[in-house]
Amino acid sequence: MPWQSPISPGISWYESNVAERPEYPALSGSVETDVAVVGGGFTGLQAAYNLAKKGVRVTLIDAYRFGDGASGRNGGQLGTGQRWSPEEMEGTLGFERSKALFDLAEDAKKHLLDFASAHDIDIEYVEGQMNVCHKPRSEKEYRDSVKIAATRYGYPHQSFMGRDETVARLGSKRYLFGIRDTGTGHIQPMKLLIGLARQAALAGASLHEQTKALKINQAGGRVSIETDKGTIRADRALIACNGYIDNFEPVTARHVMPIRSFIGATKVLSDFPEVLPGGEAVADSRFVVRYFRKSKDGRLLFGGREAYTADNPREISEHIRRQISEIYPSLANVEMTHAWGGSVGITLPRQPFVREVMPGVTSIGGYSGHGVMLSNYCGKLYSDMVTGNRSDLDLFRDLNIPAFPGGTRFRSVLLFVALSWYALRDKF
Ligand SMILES: Cc1cc2nc3c(=O)[nH]c(=O)nc-3n(C[C@H](O)[C@H](O)[C@H](O)COP(=O)(O)OP(=O)(O)OC[C@H]3O[C@@H](n4cnc5c(N)ncnc54)[C@H](O)[C@@H]3O)c2cc1C
Repeated sequence: MPWQSPISPGISWYESNVAERPEYPALSGSVETDVAVVGGGFTGLQAAYNLAKKGVRVTLIDAYRFGDGASGRNGGQLGTGQRWSPEEMEGTLGFERSKALFDLAEDAKKHLLDFASAHDIDIEYVEGQMNVCHKPRSEKEYRDSVKIAATRYGYPHQSFMGRDETVARLGSKRYLFGIRDTGTGHIQPMKLLIGLARQAALAGASLHEQTKALKINQAGGRVSIETDKGTIRADRALIACNGYIDNFEPVTARHVMPIRSFIGATKVLSDFPEVLPGGEAVADSRFVVRYFRKSKDGRLLFGGREAYTADNPREISEHIRRQISEIYPSLANVEMTHAWGGSVGITLPRQPFVREVMPGVTSIGGYSGHGVMLSNYCGKLYSDMVTGNRSDLDLFRDLNIPAFPGGTRFRSVLLFVALSWYALRDKF
């Protein structure tokens, strides 16, 4: 029986397509450990796996089931680089830092694929991603971006696609041009999540689902986490709650804000061979990005709606189908078999949040829709930091992400206004 996450709406196609999703016991009573991890998504589980492998005692808890947050329910697109293009990053950070962040993302991509292959986790990796554009004025920017990636960032895997190629590769006339990237691809995220949790347990991490952290304190060089099942005392802690932080830890909550994103799966599209014949994943040029790809069994998995309410799968299906039909009019009445959503943790500048929020307590999250590879890698980098190795985590920490204006109460209203403004701009 597929499991309905209490914190994310709908049952995902991923969930329906895994042979087994093992359960982990709740924490029982109080424990002493070296490192406590709160949050069982990619960030937390990678940290737990890497720490345990190095002989560190680690206890990880999740309020619900591993993968119930964004990690088990996302679009599965790895992308390349950071959320912003190298040239955008360069504009604010300068070449050296921008290049270091680009290289970090390449390391993250390699880390994810190597991890899956080393542990025989079938993540259904399919190579190829396309960024497509509907705004004529952006053509030069797209052409330049390909050149900059190749010449300044040492990334030769992208090519500019004119109108004909874009139409042919998408099977849609909706977009004008785009960039094709053969150095990245897309995965089935729930399979990675399940395999990762299994590896973390095998490495010796103590993993607990259905255990909610209620309070975190630091005193006398020790961290204490009060949960609904008992207390964890540790030398250090990692907060990996991302967009589900709620009011557990206030510094993270002021910097990482949840925004709902929704995905729908169509029936298997055997009658529509023109849709994405090359199997690439796609992200478009809207501020509220539409992202889509085909599943291994030939469904269209389409994400494209961000909202604050409307958690009902039937409503999600209807919205998603309408968006699909704008790109693929022949699919206007296509049957939708699954519809689900999750919270994307975003930050104000849409770059990851890494900070020591109290002595010995690091918080990592807010990958702003670009976290599949980065969250896995940040978990590993956290473990490197704890075990005294040089860690590129500093590159993110030094971004010094600002808090959202308006506090946790009013920022949703401000963001709603901002998103409406960008949605309007997307039309022109
Ligand atoms: C619909 C959707 C589509 C996306 N598509 C893409 C994509 O295509 N490409 C991409 O790169 N990124 C995408 N993302 C983002 C990506 O999934 C995330 O960046 C990444 O999974 C973050 O992992 P995480 O481990 O940091 O957080 P999460 O996976 O969100 O995990 C946080 C965990 O913390 C737990 N938690 C919270 N509070 C507590 C508490 N008090 N006590 C115990 N546990 C707690 C939650 O239960 C949850 O399991 C998407 C996200 C969504 C929602």
